[in-house]
Amino acid sequence: MTETTPRPRKSWGQNFLIDHNIQRKILDAAEVQPGERIVEIGPGRGILTKGLLERGAELLAVEIDPLLVAALRQEISSPHFNLIQEDALHYPYHRIPSPYKVVANLPYYLSTPLLFRLLEERERISRMVLMLQREVAERLVSPVGGKNYGVLSVMVQLYAEVRIGFHVSRGCFRPRPDVDSSVIVLTPLPRPRVPVKDEALFGRIVRGAFGHRRKRLANALADAGFQRTAAEAALQKIGIDPARRGETLSLGEFALLADTLFD
Ligand code: SAM
Repeated sequence: MTETTPRPRKSWGQNFLIDHNIQRKILDAAEVQPGERIVEIGPGRGILTKGLLERGAELLAVEIDPLLVAALRQEISSPHFNLIQEDALHYPYHRIPSPYKVVANLPYYLSTPLLFRLLEERERISRMVLMLQREVAERLVSPVGGKNYGVLSVMVQLYAEVRIGFHVSRGCFRPRPDVDSSVIVLTPLPRPRVPVKDEALFGRIVRGAFGHRRKRLANALADAGFQRTAAEAALQKIGIDPARRGETLSLGEFALLADTLFD
C-alpha cells in the first residue's frame, strides 16, 4: 500500500498486522493447499491476503471499508481473488461452496458475534485460524472451573476442537491496540461433542446459568425464564445440587440438564 492508503478507522477495529513472522505463522497454521478455498474476513491492507494468494489459495475476502476495498483492488489483481465489500456479519456464507477454511485477523469489536455466526456455518468449514483478543481466546479454551470459563467456552467446545496456536504482542500491529492478541485454531467437530436433544434449549440454559454467575443455579435459571420448580426437579433428577453455581457445570452436565428439561 502507498502514501495514499486511508487512515485506520478505529470504529472498524483497524489494527493492521505489520509483523511478517506472525503473518507466516498464521499461514502455516492454516496449512493452505494449492487451489484450496479460503475465506478471509477483513483483509484490511492485505498482509494475510497476499500471503494466502502466494500459497495458492482460491480466496474470497469480505471487507466493510470501501476505501480499503478500492486500495486492495488496485494493488491485487488475481483471478484467484474475489473481494466483496460487505459487512461480514451479514454475509451469506451458505452460498460459498463447501468445504472452506476461514483465515482472519478479526476486528475486536465484532469477534464474538462473528465467531457465533461462523459456528452456525461449521458444517461447511474445515478449519478456522483466527486472530482474537487474547482474553477472548482464553475464554474459548477454558476448562470448567477455569477463571475464563463462560458461555463462549461451553458453546464453542460443544461444536469444535479449539486450541491457542500462539500469542501476539500489541507491538505487531499499527496502530498499536490496547490489548494483546492470540491466534486460535478451531476445527469444527462432525457432530456436537456431547449429544444434545435441543441445541437452542441448551444455548438458553447455558446463557441463563452464566447470566448471574454468583447465583445458585436454580435461581439463575428462574431469572432466565425457566420455571423454578421444573428447573429444581430436573437438577435433582440428574443429581446436580441446585445450590451449585452455573460456572461449575461441565459441558456434559449442561447437556444432561438440557435433555432432562426437554423431556
Ligand atoms: N487482515 C488485516 C491485517 O491483518 O492487518 C486487517 C485486520 S483489522 C484487525 C480488521 C479488518 O476488518 C479491517 O480491515 C476492518 O476494516 C475490517 N472490518 C471491520 N468490521 C468489519 C465487518 N463488519 N465486516 C468486514 N470487515 C470488517
